[in-house]
Amino acid sequence: MFENLSERLSGVFDRLTKQGALSEEDVKTALREVRVALLEADVSLPVARDFVKAIQQKATGQAVTKSITPGQQVVKIVHDALIDTLRGSDDPGALRIDNPPAPILMVGLQGSGKTTTTAKLAKRLKEREGKRVLMASLDVNRPAAMEQLQILGTQIGVDTLPIVKGEDPVTIAKRAKTQAAMGGYDVYILDTAGRLHIDTDLIAQAAAVRDVAKPRETLLVVDGLTGQDAVNVATEFDDKIGVTGVILTRMDGDGRGGAALSMRAVTGKPIRFVGLGEKLDALETFEPERIAGRILGMGDIVSLVEKAQATIEAEQAERMMKRFQKGQFNMNDLRMQLEQMQKMGGMEGVMGMMPGMGKMAKQVQDAGFDDKIITRQIALVQSMTRKERANPALLQASRKKRIAAGAGLEVSELNKLLKMHRQMADMMKKMGKGGMLKQAMKGMF
Ligand code: GDP
Repeated sequence: MFENLSERLSGVFDRLTKQGALSEEDVKTALREVRVALLEADVSLPVARDFVKAIQQKATGQAVTKSITPGQQVVKIVHDALIDTLRGSDDPGALRIDNPPAPILMVGLQGSGKTTTTAKLAKRLKEREGKRVLMASLDVNRPAAMEQLQILGTQIGVDTLPIVKGEDPVTIAKRAKTQAAMGGYDVYILDTAGRLHIDTDLIAQAAAVRDVAKPRETLLVVDGLTGQDAVNVATEFDDKIGVTGVILTRMDGDGRGGAALSMRAVTGKPIRFVGLGEKLDALETFEPERIAGRILGMGDIVSLVEKAQATIEAEQAERMMKRFQKGQFNMNDLRMQLEQMQKMGGMEGVMGMMPGMGKMAKQVQDAGFDDKIITRQIALVQSMTRKERANPALLQASRKKRIAAGAGLEVSELNKLLKMHRQMADMMKKMGKGGMLKQAMKGMF
């Protein structure tokens, strides 16, 4: 079903990219096909409808940028809208596990990959975050479940709570809590029992465990291949138990797009991780960009989008250059430069690409500039009002104080930024006259 979506979108956009201008009718036709394709990929109706509506609004009234085709423009809009819909938080992998020992509750249906994912998560926390992790299986229904977790624990070098036959899940959860506290663990993960379908027993058991464990995170594990069912399961679990995040498993399979899109839109819960295979390191943080790329089809379309973005950036650069040549270089420009520097690996990376900039690099560094403070510099610019950014000459003592305080920094640091800005503005102006700026900026974008 996933191939369908990808192929269909490709077909639509292929046709669009061959046309010179994009009429309103073209947008409508394209979006109608996008909507059908989404539905076929098992995206729920309201989600597909909202998604298309958002694109329609963005597409209509947006000028088609010079030198890219209308089709490319639409691709970019669809791509961005997918990412918007999919994005739950900036850092989906950051779990709330301070204050040790932090309990994490794993819930989900049987066969969703819950036990495997418990072990994957434990491995990740141990290896990437240096956490001491304890795992406990609360699955008293399935005879081999506890042993399964124990075996996985041995494989990844993570402790499991010793198995005591005949205990009920709540008692096991209490024992895990005590053991985690006494043993100095940072995190303990409770793997609850699953059933084939959601039933009252399952929910009652999970709720009872939740009430004693008071989990910091309740992660719902759902099979990404089950499409619309996955969304229904998530909605129900969230209503009855309350979940803080979703882990989609089997995203290495075929149904990669639809479930993720509806899941995020319908439940409002962030997708934190995706399972990408049976191996115990096949768990990755959820990246909307990557899923959007997959939904659009990995190859051609995404590179088209990238090309479109590059073209837009080049046009921005050209507009900027024209202003610099006239000696206009304001705080917004400076901020863009700083952000660009961050993207390109800091000061050294940038200067290396700009002929004739060696001297300036030294001056800038003498002014107290190093890569670590780029982030703080950007915060200072963000703390300025729009007027101040456009006209830095406005910055007198009281404004400076306010700006520095807004960024949580000292006025002296703002002064350094202003000095750097003056130096850069001078340099740009001089270079603009000699025609060097054009050459330099080619390297930057
Ligand atoms: P549980 O009943 O929910 O605890 O499910 P299990 O953890 O026992 O997993 C069921 C099966 O799914 C196992 O064979 C796992 O190896 C497999 N599995 C789990 N996660 C993934 C995944 O992300 N991709 C693939 N391909 N298989 C997975």
